[in-house]
Amino acid sequence: MAETNEAWFERASRVLPGGVDSPVRSFASVGGTPYTVAYGAGATVTDVEGTTYLDYVQSYGASLLGHADPSVLRAIESVAASGTTFGAPTRHETLLAEAITERVTGLEQVRFVSSGTEASMSAVRLARGATGRSTIVKFDGCYHGHADALLTAAGSGVLALGLPGSAGVPAGAVADTVVAPYNVVPTLDDDVACVVVEPVAANMGLVAPAHGFLEGLRGECDRVGALLIFDEVVTGFRIAPTAVSELLGVVPDLWCFGKVIGGGLPVGAFGGARAVMDELAPRGAVYQAGTLSGNPVAMAAGLAVLEAASADRYCELAEQVARLANGLEAALLDAGIAAVAPRYGTLASLFVGQGHERLAAPSDLDQVRAINGSGRYAGIFHELLARGVAFAPGAYEVLFCSFAHDAASITRTIEAAHDAAAALRGRDA
Ligand SMILES: *Cc1c(COP(=O)(O)O)cnc(C)c1O
Repeated sequence: MAETNEAWFERASRVLPGGVDSPVRSFASVGGTPYTVAYGAGATVTDVEGTTYLDYVQSYGASLLGHADPSVLRAIESVAASGTTFGAPTRHETLLAEAITERVTGLEQVRFVSSGTEASMSAVRLARGATGRSTIVKFDGCYHGHADALLTAAGSGVLALGLPGSAGVPAGAVADTVVAPYNVVPTLDDDVACVVVEPVAANMGLVAPAHGFLEGLRGECDRVGALLIFDEVVTGFRIAPTAVSELLGVVPDLWCFGKVIGGGLPVGAFGGARAVMDELAPRGAVYQAGTLSGNPVAMAAGLAVLEAASADRYCELAEQVARLANGLEAALLDAGIAAVAPRYGTLASLFVGQGHERLAAPSDLDQVRAINGSGRYAGIFHELLARGVAFAPGAYEVLFCSFAHDAASITRTIEAAHDAAAALRGRDA
């Protein structure tokens, strides 16, 4: 039987719920059948039918150099040949920890984990342990992984008590989580252990921090003695060879990392100044552990990425992403489709709304929802996919480029967007 996406998805759906291991991979919100990747190379992925796509998913940001980068593969192969996991320290975790801490001002120590979820969950536990307080403040539309206390939806009101964000999360698990709208500095009480935020929000499309927002959070945290946690699982080492805190000029107490620092293998990390990290076991009373934490193969892959990621490569990529954002927006607006493509450094996203005019860039989840309520993203997604350009199958994601996305790939994407938008207009008419 011929290899088809349809057949593989059907087979997967028998043994994997929904046919996927992470819901964002399903085409539930755009309709259709996901392509099953056979292999990736640089900026592209090729599915089991042999169709090649320019890939703007890039493992939701985990891939920075592009797929199957030779320097990363060499690092993986050479370390794996000496054994893949031991339950004893190896040199690789120290090397990656040195590379991360020396690139981020104020970050002295990190603890490695195996996912971004674990990083933010553990950072929150550390903040609660260090302050002896319970309340967490998070922002509507920011994603911090799927730990119970952070999987909350906003209740009504400006500073609302969180509601469970999923079936299976008991009200008690989010009873100490408060959800605030992004880009508004909440007034804190002195029972707040920490404020956790994506310093540039990248899980409701791209929403940049308003002027003064992060500075305001820093001030409020200092005023009441709460810890400020920057969840940089997306932004860390994706926008520059450092944390985005460095560019924004606001220093948090704790950082969370993931995605890029794992070089395509399962890695997360959280860290801060030595004094607060000393609260962690074995030195302190906050327990946190992991059989595969600091896995040598994953550490070596991450280090290979950081070593290859020079400042000028980020600058070149940011220029291409600026071209991409402007080009996508122009393509849709030329066809009379309301759009806006905000950009922050190497990150961009595409919002497609109702009407014909250029949209204002949204600044919080309510505004994002108002735009995405148009339901028009799915159309552009499928028209692009049919032209060999793979965006994420959901309107709430950002576009991830890799260093392998060169000027020619961006030009081809913009041309595809013009054709896609024209096809959509034809259908609407
Ligand atoms: C992806 C993501 C996470 C969760 O990371 P996983 O590795 O998927 O568990 C946490 N925070 C942010 C900001 C993310 O984008």
